[in-house]
Parts: sequence; structure tokens; C-alpha cells
Amino acid sequence: MPRPDELPTATNFVRELVIADNESGTFGGRVQTRFPPEPNGYLHIGHAKAITVDFGIAAEFDGVCNLRFDDTNPDTEDTSYVDGIIADLAWLGFPIEGEPLYASDYFEQLYDWAELLITKGLAYVDEQDGETISAQRGGYGNAGIESPHRSRPVDENLDLFRKMRAGEFGEGSAVLRAKIDMQHENMQLRDPVMYRIRGVHHHRTGALWNIYPTYDWAHGQSDAIEGVTHSLCTLEFDSHRALYDWYLAQLPLPFEAPRQTEFARLELTHTVTSKRRLAKLVEDGTVDGWDDPRMPTLRGLRRRGYPASAIREFCNFIGVSRTNSRHQIELLESFVRTELNRTALRRMAVLRPLKVVVTDWPTDAAGEPVVEMVELANNPENPDDGTRMVPFSGVFHIEQDDFMAEPPPKYFRLSPGREVRLRGAYFVTATGFDTDGDGNVVEVQVVHDPETRGGNAPDGRKVKSTMHWVSAAHAVDATVALYDRLFSAEIPGEATGEAFDDLNADSREVLTGAKLEPALADARPGQVVQFERLGYFAVDTDGPALFHRTVGLRDEWANIQKRS
Ligand code: ATP
Ligand code: MG
Repeated sequence: MPRPDELPTATNFVRELVIADNESGTFGGRVQTRFPPEPNGYLHIGHAKAITVDFGIAAEFDGVCNLRFDDTNPDTEDTSYVDGIIADLAWLGFPIEGEPLYASDYFEQLYDWAELLITKGLAYVDEQDGETISAQRGGYGNAGIESPHRSRPVDENLDLFRKMRAGEFGEGSAVLRAKIDMQHENMQLRDPVMYRIRGVHHHRTGALWNIYPTYDWAHGQSDAIEGVTHSLCTLEFDSHRALYDWYLAQLPLPFEAPRQTEFARLELTHTVTSKRRLAKLVEDGTVDGWDDPRMPTLRGLRRRGYPASAIREFCNFIGVSRTNSRHQIELLESFVRTELNRTALRRMAVLRPLKVVVTDWPTDAAGEPVVEMVELANNPENPDDGTRMVPFSGVFHIEQDDFMAEPPPKYFRLSPGREVRLRGAYFVTATGFDTDGDGNVVEVQVVHDPETRGGNAPDGRKVKSTMHWVSAAHAVDATVALYDRLFSAEIPGEATGEAFDDLNADSREVLTGAKLEPALADARPGQVVQFERLGYFAVDTDGPALFHRTVGLRDEWANIQKRS
């Protein structure tokens, strides 16, 4: 089974298209793309795919990729999202140079072009309400109904449109519509709305505008203003392409109009990638915020310990196609694990501690238990990372489930009479244990074999288990958060149509009593380490009093591949 990062890079039809354009001389060999987020939420894993495509294509062909905020909808947009998106982009490995671009910077030009369309008899003011307009559009196989205002004279349209801009009409009392074809088989071309009246504050233009362009009217025109050649977007905009082209065809562009190309959205199992839904998780308090480690947002994944490089490699690996599909989240995790296996330092941590006493442990002249330092590799995958010294003494912690008073067959960890290896330290054999009133084991007694110092027996005898441990006197206390899927269903909402019905009520388990080896007190915020035998854990942004489990050690994607 090849590791995912050893498989050949998937095909990318967008790349092939650009190569063909360059060969035929379309756009004069120029390549310019843009990434156009709406600043109404933070970036998520789906955006990471769009970013790697948009920026990747530009980089590969010595072109430019603009970050353009598509800020045409003042209701839900906010400057904090603008700053957050810029920061997240930089973290992912795509820092922008200079200032970002904004569709709102083009409002004046868009307005002028709208007047041009009116003058050409290609746009009109409709004073019907939204419901009526939408009902008159008809449906597939249902004829559309022309608005009674459709044939207004140009002058009247111009006058009304200027009054809309001047704020003389109330919200919802009029819209500007393109005059295309109410019988067109593509609904997008049945006289789409270009402007609506909104009396709200815009995060950049303030109270300057009373009318705002729709996405469709703003998007292609913004592309043209910037000189974009390849406007790459997701498949749901497929039916908008005809409108994109129609608008551009009406304008006096002195160059080749940009061309829209759609590719499949990235969807993951057990995950939702819709900003509306992600915002609701935050609003409802289902998660702690946009950067909750369970969120598929870039800031959530970062806090969880996902390396940006692993996300980029995953996006490159899945490639770009025109077929919608859902990838297994285990595949993404596999990239994360592969990267962390290379880079994460190994450390010992006990999440659910059980006290173990070495009854034959020596004491020093002052009667204190001897403390020995054992040397352990920081990362066996990378000898350059060196070693560290870890204190071992007469009392230490192991995981509660690493001891069983009455072990079933094939349980090879510690149990009465059983000898095991403590990683890097000694062979120990359990001699007894104490229980509390409920029968829970609260302490285990062991004896050690002084000949096995370093964790190997000179007589060559073997043990079936090597366990991690943390010296009780030297342990650092921490809280560790374990995570499970935020949505228990592979396809959230598949059964009921509502993704939130599949929320996993047990997606987080917080363990407050974890015991860590002393070196972990120096772990940096954001650093990811491997807790031996347990998985990869990220230091919280506030420091090593809190760790988040990034991924476990087992490659579940490989298991899935084997089963299928
Ligand atoms: P959402 O449905 O999450 O609100 P959106 O498309 O409205 O997504 P935008 O901020 O408008 O979000 O998206 C910016 C760019 O990212 C667009 O080009 C969009 O096509 C792309 N994008 C958004 N979601 C995905 C996804 N899941 N996979 C790939 N590209 C995506
Ligand atoms: Mg959008």
C-alpha cells in the first residue's frame, strides 16, 4: 500500500486548459486568477482547495493571483473576517503582497456600466416586489412572465435608477434588472437582478451607497477590471457562466474578456463546509468559536495541530476535476500524520494516570528515592533531533488501561506477575495492587530488575509490552482535549436532510488530570508533539497547560483502503 504522499499527483484539468490557452495565444499568454472570498466568515478546508487551485495555477504559469473580497452583500460582512482571511491565507502558505482588492472598490465603475446597459436598452428598473419577480421567473419548462415595467423608455429608467442611488426609494421598492430573455431555458438569464436597494452600513463604503450590485453583476466585471484571464470557481456557478459571458459581452472591453471555469467543490466525510452552517455552530455555542479544534476552518485545523503543508499536499493530491465527490476525512488525516511523523518530537504523557510504586527502589544517603535520568530519542525518524534526558524514580504514572488485575487472554500489558518494559528505563513486574471502595485499582506495586537499566535485559529475555510512563515527582500537570467527529454521519444530513441532526454530542472529551514528562513544560504554543503510544497533540495557543489531540497514530485511511 503506497502512502498517499507517494501516489502520483492527480490530474488537474484547469492546468491543461491554461496550457491550451497559452499555446493558442488566447490572453496573449497571460495568466491571472483571483481568490474571491465573501468576508462573511472565516476560511474552511474547502477554501483551501480553491486557494491551492487559484494561487497554484498562477504560480505555475508565472501569473498573478489576486485576493479579492467579494463584499457586495453588506448585511453579513465584517472587517474582522477580512483580517482573519488575510491571516489564514498567510498561514496556509499564500501570503499576499500589499493590499487586498475589494469588489466594493469597483462600485462606481459598476454603476457606470449599469447606466451604459440602461442606455443600450439592456436594463430596466422594476418596481415589483421580490416575491412577484421571483414568481414571474417561472421554472424549468414553465414560461416566464414579463414585468409590466420591462419596456420603460431609457430616460425613465435612467431617472429611476439615479433616484435609487440617491436614496429616494425605500428598501425593496425597486430593483435594476438586465433585460435578456424571460423565456430563456437558463433561469439565470430571465432578466436577473443587477441592483437592490439596501439601507445598511457597508464595512468599507459606509453609508455611501443605497444600492448594492448582485454577485453576478459584480463578479465578472470585477474580473475584467483587474485583468483576470481565468476566473476559477466551483461547479454551482456552472449555470451562471452564460450570464457572466452575457454581461461582459455588453461592455466596451479593450481586451479579451475573462473566462469562467468551474471545478468540483471539496467535500469531506463527517464535515460540513458551508459558512452559513459553520457560523450557526458558533452562534449556537455547539463549538467554542471559529477556531474550535473541531471546526474544519483553517483556524480550527491550525489550533488542532494540522500543519499547513499537510493541507496543501492533500489539496494537490486530490486534484481538480469537474465531478463532485466527497473525500474521506481519514485521507486528510493521513497526510497530517505522515507530516507529523517526520517533524513531531516524541514525548511521554499519561492521560488517565494510575500510580505505580517500585517497592525495591533505592534511596540515597538522605533517605530520598534515587532519581535516574534516562536518555530517549526526540524523534527516531530524524536523528538530527537528538535526545533528551527524562527523570525516572520510585513512583510513576501509567495509563489506567495499561494495568488489569484480571487480564483476559492476550492482554500483555501490566498485570499481577507480568513483566513489562518501561520505555528507556527498566523491566518491572507487578507484585500487588490496591483498590478503592468501588473496586477500582488506585495503586500498583512493582519490583524492578536493576540489570535492565535502559530498558534491555542483558540475558536477552523478551517482554511483550513496552509502556510509557511519567515520573510522579517530576510530572507536569495538563489538561488534554480528545476529539471525535463533529458529525457522526459520513454525510451529515443524508438521512434527514438536516446536517445538524447528525451532530455528535460526544465530539470532545476533556481530561483534566494528565501527567506530562517535564520537557513538555517548555513546549511552544502551536507546537505539535507525539505522545508516545497515544497520538499527536498540539499545544494550545495559550501554552502547554492545554493540549489538543490532532490525530491518532493508526492510519485509518490505509485500513479503509484495505477493506474496500
Ligand atoms: P460557503 O458555501 O462556505 O459560504 P462560498 O462559495 O459562499 O462558500 P466564498 O467566500 O464565496 O464562499 O468562496 C470563495 C471561493 O472559494 C469561491 O471561489 C468558492 O467557489 C470557493 N469555495 C468555497 N467553498 C468551497 C469548497 N467546499 N471547495 C472548493 N472551493 C470552495
Ligand atoms: Mg459565496
